Amino acid sequence: MDKNLKHKGITAFLVPLPSSGLTLGKREDKLGIRASPTCNFILENVRVPKENVLGEVGDGFKIAMLQLDKARIGIAAQALGIGQAALDVAVQYAANRKTFGKPINQQQAVKLRLADMALRLESARLLVWRAAVLCDQPGKYTKESSMAKWAASEAATFVTHATIQVLGGMGYVSDMPAERYYRDARITEIYGGITDIQKLLIGDIITKEYGY
Ligand SMILES: Cc1cc2nc3c(=O)[nH]c(=O)nc-3n(C[C@H](O)[C@H](O)[C@H](O)COP(=O)(O)OP(=O)(O)OC[C@H]3O[C@@H](n4cnc5c(N)ncnc54)[C@H](O)[C@@H]3O)c2cc1C
Repeated sequence: MDKNLKHKGITAFLVPLPSSGLTLGKREDKLGIRASPTCNFILENVRVPKENVLGEVGDGFKIAMLQLDKARIGIAAQALGIGQAALDVAVQYAANRKTFGKPINQQQAVKLRLADMALRLESARLLVWRAAVLCDQPGKYTKESSMAKWAASEAATFVTHATIQVLGGMGYVSDMPAERYYRDARITEIYGGITDIQKLLIGDIITKEYGY
């Protein structure tokens, strides 16, 4: 890495595991996605052969950015899956849970909440599908990928939060899956670039699209 060249001084390369000088940090204890282990990679004087360089020397930043365009669609799809699972639970629970002699899905407050959840999820789904279609075609899709991730991750956070409200106390206990969906949804607003970063990317691209 040549710091004087800034992002053009970064090179991507593969490091085999195990490698001399490569250690893993402690396994993190996390709010959600607890079945997926997370730790730091610590590199100290690691030597790799030059065949392990990905692309060209100096292309590392570009490679990482191109990979992120794809990864964000995957994270958006993950968010949609979590949100959809939560909506399924909410709708089923609302049909079966009775208060004052009738299912709670007959209460307008619950119907309005279910409608709000479905709308956000469906809007996000269309953006994710659009980004996925563009990803399979030649050309750039950074804006669409960032929009899909932003919309789907916020939809997942909203829908899983609302699911706990629909389930009441049963939403808060781990006998039901709602609390796990709520915890798992949260990471989708963070990894692959926090939502603020998606907004900055979209803002830059839109400004350029208008010729400024
Ligand atoms: C469970 C988990 C798994 C992960 N897996 C991976 C992985 O597989 N690969 C990988 O590369 N990374 C991974 N990450 C890292 C993840 O992508 C970052 O945590 C995330 O992008 C946010 O970066 P940060 O933590 O450095 O936050 P920071 O950049 O420190 O951001 C903190 C706050 O400051 C704000 N901020 C920072 N810079 C700006 C700016 N320029 N403009 C506006 N606001 C700004 C952010 O919006 C945020 O609110 C993982 C993280 C977690 C928690």
